[in-house]
Amino acid sequence: MRVLVTGAAGFLGSHLCDRLLAEGHEVVGMDNFITGNPQNLAHLAGHERFSFIRHDVSDFIFVPGKLDAVMHFASPASPNPNSPYGYVNLPIQTMKAGALGTHNTLGVAKAHDARFLLASTSEIYGDPQVHPQDESYWGYVDPIGPRSVYDEAKRFAEALTMAYHRFHGVDTRIVRIFNTYGPRMHIHDGRVVPNFLLQALRGEPLTVYGDGQQTRSFCYVDDLIDGIYRLLMSDEHRPVNIGNPVETTILEFAHTINRMTGNEGVTFLPDRRGSGDPQRRQPDIARARQALGWEPRIELDEGLRRTIPYFKEKIDQA
Ligand code: NAD
Ligand code: UDP
Repeated sequence: MRVLVTGAAGFLGSHLCDRLLAEGHEVVGMDNFITGNPQNLAHLAGHERFSFIRHDVSDFIFVPGKLDAVMHFASPASPNPNSPYGYVNLPIQTMKAGALGTHNTLGVAKAHDARFLLASTSEIYGDPQVHPQDESYWGYVDPIGPRSVYDEAKRFAEALTMAYHRFHGVDTRIVRIFNTYGPRMHIHDGRVVPNFLLQALRGEPLTVYGDGQQTRSFCYVDDLIDGIYRLLMSDEHRPVNIGNPVETTILEFAHTINRMTGNEGVTFLPDRRGSGDPQRRQPDIARARQALGWEPRIELDEGLRRTIPYFKEKIDQA
């Protein structure tokens, strides 16, 4: 297949490009580097089946040649208002990437008669009132809160994807991605894994927002990409949760990071409930198991062992 990957210079997009190339496909990467990093693609320079277009997906997209699949991953993804990469600080760009970017990439898929895969998110469930979250849950989202620029753009993107599927017959897929971590996350991206690793490797106490009793379920990137690849190759048109169902409190997670890095200490900062910080998040992955034969394999300690050397290297280079 010849596959367009938007957001290719980002954390997930770059791993996705690697997997597609490893499977023998040809990849056209697209990115405007707003939160991504050309370094994430440096190892693909000169690869005979990889090419790159620097472009903002919010503007009309033209890709010469045939395309068999379009995978739309371009969007800021960190909720942290203290990070320049946080979507709260890129609100209009985030809404445009989710809305106009999804419209443009669906248009490309339709024009090329290509299959389409949308990178959606567990954030479409908002601060969930149902636990764990399965795909039938409609979510609990504040439409005007600080996180709404991301959540509502992704909800619009899902609706538009289904409209193109139902009305135009585009062969679509929707993956709802839960918290994922691994090498190539931007060290200043502000999400909890980069923040904690940066602090731990500098010997600083970890900043826990609130009492740390809020939960997340962390998936290692290779597991996630495997689930997404299986979804692309399946004929599943319904949204599919991909994530690791092992749930941990943020405080437990801080202790795990400290243990694995030989660091000590936690600082409690004001909670972020007022800005919509979800209190519990855990994917129900029954659909992924049944429709894709997928489940995660890499446990948290192992995933962190694979991630820590990358952060060490980046901190040394900074
Ligand atoms: P990332 O910030 O590392 O990557 C996003 C990439 O998209 C960056 O390279 C950025 O430059 C690019 N981009 C953003 N707006 C663009 C635009 N208008 N035009 C072209 N390129 C643009 O983040 P990530 O974690 O790799 O997230 C990738 C996708 O996965 C996003 O759509 C995100 O919403 C989704 N997602 C990620 C997670 C996670 O845990 N990593 C969870 C849920 C959803
Ligand atoms: N968090 C924290 N300290 C940090 C960064 C994040 O306690 O330095 C918490 C945050 O409040 C949230 C969880 O960790 O409850 C996950 O946050 P992240 O930014 O990774 O993304 P989210 O899962 O909220 O989209």
